[in-house]
Amino acid sequence: MNLFDHIRDVPDFPKPGIVFKDISPLLASREATQEAIRAMAEPYRADPPEAILAVEARGFLFAVPMAQELGCGVVLVRKPGKLPAATTAVEYALEYGNDMLEMHADALTKGQKVLIVDDVLATGGTVAACADLARQAGAEVTAAAFLVELTFLNGRSKLGNLPVSAAITY
Ligand code: 5GP
Repeated sequence: MNLFDHIRDVPDFPKPGIVFKDISPLLASREATQEAIRAMAEPYRADPPEAILAVEARGFLFAVPMAQELGCGVVLVRKPGKLPAATTAVEYALEYGNDMLEMHADALTKGQKVLIVDDVLATGGTVAACADLARQAGAEVTAAAFLVELTFLNGRSKLGNLPVSAAITY
C-alpha cells in the first residue's frame, strides 16, 4: 500500500500558486484510510497519550479512529462560535490577518498528556496555536501527528522541540 498514490495534487487551490494536497482519494478508500490510521498511530503505541486534540475539520477524521487504537478520548479544537459550552480561545497569525481557534474550557486537565492530530502540517501556525490552547489549560503537549507533512514549508520551526510524526512527507 503506497499512501502517496491516494493523495491528489490540486493546483491553484485555495489561491493561485498553491498546490493543495487533497486527501479525498485516501478517504474514499477503506484500505488506504485503515493504513493511514495505522501508520499515524504507530509511533504512539508504546507510550499512548491520555487525550487527542483534534483540529477542525479534517483532523477530526483521523483523531477518532487513532484515539480508539491508542485507548484514549478526543477533544475538539474548533473555529470560533462552534462549541456550545464555555470555551478558551487562542488567536494566531495567518498570511493576511488573524484567525482564532477554540476549545471547551473544561476539556483538558492539568498535566494531562495530549497528542495533537491534524491532516496536514504546512506552515505550522495551526498546530502551534493548538499547542498554546492545550498548554493554557495546563495540559502537557507530548507530540503532534499528521497524515502529511509539507517539509518545504518548515512547519516544525514554529513548534520548538515538540516531537512531530507524519505518515507521508513531501
Ligand atoms: P498550517 O497552519 O500548518 O499552515 O496549515 C495547516 C492547516 O491547513 C491544517 O489544518 C490543514 O488541514 C490545512 N492545510 C494547509 N495546506 C493544506 C493542504 O495542502 N492540504 C490539506 N488537506 N490541508 C491543508
